[in-house]
Amino acid sequence: MSNYVSEWSLTRRKVFTNCARRFSIKYLTNNIQKTGEYSAPRWRSPYDVMIISTREVFFQWLKDLHNNVIWTGKTIYSNLRFKIITNLYKFNSQNTEGIKPDKDRLISNGYARLKTLLRQPLIRKLSSGEIREWSFHERTGVVTFGHLQVYCSPDIVFRTANKWHLVRLNFQSECKQPYLDLELCTMLLWSKGNQYMPNLESKFTIYGIFFLDGKWYQRRVIPSQRMLQETKQLLEKDVHHMNVLRDYFYRTSNIDTLPLTKSPMYCKRCPYKTNCPVFGDRQDDFNKP
Ligand code: SF4
Repeated sequence: MSNYVSEWSLTRRKVFTNCARRFSIKYLTNNIQKTGEYSAPRWRSPYDVMIISTREVFFQWLKDLHNNVIWTGKTIYSNLRFKIITNLYKFNSQNTEGIKPDKDRLISNGYARLKTLLRQPLIRKLSSGEIREWSFHERTGVVTFGHLQVYCSPDIVFRTANKWHLVRLNFQSECKQPYLDLELCTMLLWSKGNQYMPNLESKFTIYGIFFLDGKWYQRRVIPSQRMLQETKQLLEKDVHHMNVLRDYFYRTSNIDTLPLTKSPMYCKRCPYKTNCPVFGDRQDDFNKP
């Protein structure tokens, strides 16, 4: 019997809110790989490989920018090309769909996404040197909040005068984001665990930069004490519901009785679609262009 869920991250939240079955396979089972009953958990759809790769190359770009190394368009393109080909081999070589990914299309899609991001006003301020004091972070650091382990670090932090700015990038956003402001405010929890950051919400501005329908958007949030409180409640509630699902899952021991997503698009990119009951029912939806 595995332990109660005590970890929270945005990725977990998104998977949980979209599909209980996918969440359970990914986070509540330890023996999927051993049984081989489901498709390889390392598998990623070609589209997801493009998103992962674009994000990785953006961080390489940021790292070099921080060291005053400037990339040309050609450097961006060749690094992205290399990253997509490597990641396709790493995550997509066990191809469950029997369709060869269109590498050129993925590369040009990722390149366009990255180029428009570099023209985004806030990112432009970094590359032009207008923002001088900044750092970037990987979301691997965990913050302890009560009994929870929370992955909530910002991607970029910068300072102007006496204000701190926390920025999170989302390389593929969902259309509906009803809790976007609170999700963004989780970055404040990260700042609380950082000794160099002030302890006052009023000292921060929070940004979400996200890609949706071919464009990058920016959301700016001025946090308050109340918002921080609501953010903490959101985390508590999420983890509570994850544990309710966990209890149900261990009681029934049947993954295929769990609620499924209503979106065929979400299934297209799911690593666990082999043997999923929805796949047979929605064959027509899957075949839509
Ligand atoms: S294929 Fe769709 S319904 Fe099945 S687990 Fe994946 S996301 Fe959920």
